[in-house]
Amino acid sequence: MNETIEMAPFDAPVLEERPWAVFSACRSADPSLFFAATRDDERAALKICGTCTVREQCLGFALETRERFGVWGGTTERQRKRLLRA
Ligand code: SF4
Repeated sequence: MNETIEMAPFDAPVLEERPWAVFSACRSADPSLFFAATRDDERAALKICGTCTVREQCLGFALETRERFGVWGGTTERQRKRLLRA
């Protein structure tokens, strides 16, 4: 019997850099929400982050790499700027 395994839509370099991404709640979400043009999209992305089991790793990665754009680890760009200043 052949089984189809759902793979996260990440390519090899991404998985090498962020192996935890396979467990991310956003792996099947619309990426444009996470680089939102509107507050509504940003809120939708943050809601997804709220259910994510790898949020800590994601935030750690975003802070470590000084990720300037988008929602990462349940934080907005502005929130990460504040965290990095603190
Ligand atoms: S914390 Fe948010 S941005 Fe990070 S992997 Fe999870 S859902 Fe995606």
